[in-house]
Formats: sequence, structure tokens, C-alpha cells
Amino acid sequence: MKVLDLHCSQGHVFEGWFASEEDFQQQRSGHLLECPMCGCTTIEKGLSAPRLNLGGTSQERSPAPAQEGQVASLPQAQREKLRALQAAWLQVSRHVAQQAEDVGERFAKQALRMHRGEEEEKPIRGQATPEQTRELLEEGVPVLPLLLPKVTTETLQ
Ligand SMILES: [Zn+2]
Repeated sequence: MKVLDLHCSQGHVFEGWFASEEDFQQQRSGHLLECPMCGCTTIEKGLSAPRLNLGGTSQERSPAPAQEGQVASLPQAQREKLRALQAAWLQVSRHVAQQAEDVGERFAKQALRMHRGEEEEKPIRGQATPEQTRELLEEGVPVLPLLLPKVTTETLQ
């Protein structure tokens, strides 16, 4: 007895029991095989791509990019890309948070004073309204509106 994994043209996967490989081929070419789910007689041996995607471990995953394989692996690739981006963004944010003095709501005023040479220049961070930010930019003050992740500023306090 031979148990074969079969799938139909619709992607349904099922098991077929045959006396031998030849038995399978005979039944298949005689269209005696049919999918138990949809009844179609276009039956192929082997695991279908959908089943491979669902059940495969990373070792089983073929490096040859079948179309379904690409679709299945895309979210994973995106997740990793996102993780890398988040890590990089956290790193930059920490750097900014550590280098710049937090002047809070005095930010806009102080940035302007430093720009005019009324105060010593140093990296500062703080809160500014969109209006203040626009005014600073119009004055030619190099400000960069950034939302620092909370963790980067909390660890400093
Ligand atoms: Zn089917």
C-alpha cells in the first residue's frame, strides 16, 4: 500500500491510497481520481504550495522562490525591516536625548536667543508648538521637529 499526498488544481490537499505508484498513475491518467472536496479530476502528486507554506519549518522552506513562498515570506521580511528601523530610530533618539539639554517649553525662546547670539549655542531639545516651530524656521533657526520615543527621555530622569 502506498500513501500519496495529492492535490487538485484548486489547491485542495488530500491523501490517496494506492497499491503502487503505477496504480496511482493509471487511475490518474484514466481520470479515476477526483478531489474529495471539489470533485475535479486534475490531480497532481506531491504537496501543494499552500500546504508547504503552512506547515514548513524554516529548514524545509525552499530557497527557490515559488510565488506562494514569496507571498508567505514577505510579512516576515517586512517585520525584520521594521524591527531594524525601530532599533535605528531608538538609537538616534537616545543620542539626541543624551546630547541635547531639555529646556522644555522654553525651547522656542532659547533657540531664538542662541540663533541671535544672545546665548551660548548648545544642542537643546524641548517642546514647541507648530507655530513656534514655523517661526523658528522662518528666522532661519535650524530646528528639527522630532517626536522622541518616551523611553529615551525617561531613562535620563
Ligand atoms: Zn479540489
